[in-house]
Amino acid sequence: MRYISTRGLPTDTPRSFTDILLRGLAPDGGLYMPVEYPRVDSEMLTKWADRFREGGYAALAFEVMRLFVDDIPPADLEAMCQRAYNADNFGSDVVTPMTQLEDGIWLLHLSNGPTAAFKDMAMQMLGQLFEYVLEKEGRELNIVGATSGDTGSSAEYAMLGKDNIRVFMLTPAGRMTPFQQAQMYGLDDPAIINIALEGVFDDCQDVVKAISADADFKEKYSIGAVNSINWARLLAQVVYYVAAWIQAGGSSVKKVSFSVPTGNFGDICAGHVARSMGVPIDKLIVATNENNVLDEFFRTGIYRVRSAAETFETSSPSMDISKASNFERFIFDLVGRDQELVRDLFANKLVNEGEFSLADSSVFRDTRIRFGFLSGSSTHADRLDSIQSVYRHDKVIIDPHTADAWKVARDAMRGGVVDPPLVVLETALPVKFAQTIQEALGFTPDTPKRFEGIEDAKRHVIDLPNDVEAVKQLIREVVGD
Ligand SMILES: *Cc1c(COP(=O)(O)O)cnc(C)c1O
Repeated sequence: MRYISTRGLPTDTPRSFTDILLRGLAPDGGLYMPVEYPRVDSEMLTKWADRFREGGYAALAFEVMRLFVDDIPPADLEAMCQRAYNADNFGSDVVTPMTQLEDGIWLLHLSNGPTAAFKDMAMQMLGQLFEYVLEKEGRELNIVGATSGDTGSSAEYAMLGKDNIRVFMLTPAGRMTPFQQAQMYGLDDPAIINIALEGVFDDCQDVVKAISADADFKEKYSIGAVNSINWARLLAQVVYYVAAWIQAGGSSVKKVSFSVPTGNFGDICAGHVARSMGVPIDKLIVATNENNVLDEFFRTGIYRVRSAAETFETSSPSMDISKASNFERFIFDLVGRDQELVRDLFANKLVNEGEFSLADSSVFRDTRIRFGFLSGSSTHADRLDSIQSVYRHDKVIIDPHTADAWKVARDAMRGGVVDPPLVVLETALPVKFAQTIQEALGFTPDTPKRFEGIEDAKRHVIDLPNDVEAVKQLIREVVGD
């Protein structure tokens, strides 16, 4: 399998999987995509279901990923899947169990990993792949990132103990939840460097951008990233759409639909890839919170991004995103992989006008008809109501992000626009957002055993001013010349 850029030229040479693994954006500013989707037929799906039942999630992950990765020996890829997806990391070999709620709605549990958020699903595999490729190439990587919570901790736990990898993670001082702070700052390892920057998340991100923009520094200190546009992260997420279809009944159900709490469009884009491969998926429902840029697009055909100042701070903070970094991948497929058009939309219209419109284009209809997309949004009041409702009926506590997806899913079911089975993706455990649970239910969720006492651990974090040079100096000191 080879990969091309969404903005590339037809004359570009496609690249291999390991070649794009450690790259972020393509040099032309586009995102890497497979030259075509491998097709799965019913025979293969039956085989995958057998592999999942016999060998657990790791076996299924290997079967799915090997279709996209042909420059790593299969035995090595399989071993990496085993090391990423097992009971030690995810509590069981099924990794993503599914619970039935009322009315044909299911909950797919994606947050049983080390940091209690679904980011672990992709990041654990990424840690394996990074270590493998760095070892092969005999080089090291210093990951520099910014986080407002989930991504940073997930990256740290995935890279922990991996050879040739260090993580420098910038966090906005005092602005994460106590649980998130404890998770990250509690890590005691010389290769994990937590930095509390005097500033907000955008300041952290600006520092990371400034460091990446310094080509000499980047080269000299082998600076890399684990951003949400990494193809391997997306690929790893394709697997659980298959696992959900199998658990919902496999070949005894015709098709499964999904409702996905969406921010950067990574999670649901993996669903789009699975569907494009022929996995029996009917509808893919994009659920947003008050930051409803994507809901607006799927309703109107107009994609109008917002600035940081126009982005609301909500009680589902991991979805407070007004410029979805993976959205270009879907548009690429929607416009028939017309790279010139994608370039015009994203590198010209979006940059110069802050929006583009496909409302008058014949492809807009295809979002629903050919690609199965629906959308909806929810508010803080909806989230509280959803958390209460699911708790009342099913005695299950869902987190505020999952609540966004549940609300949009239930509306779609009641409106008759989607048939059961409909799977809601659970993206975090409620313990991470205890304050909102308290507001909805009047009590805080239990802390899972594996997290008991983490708030008492000694903290490992370096305070720095909001200053690029100070962060660079720290990197120089740690990495050495
Ligand atoms: C990252 C995240 C999301 C959004 O996922 P995308 O892939 O960015 O769309 C939703 N919920 C939680 C808890 C997250 O951490």
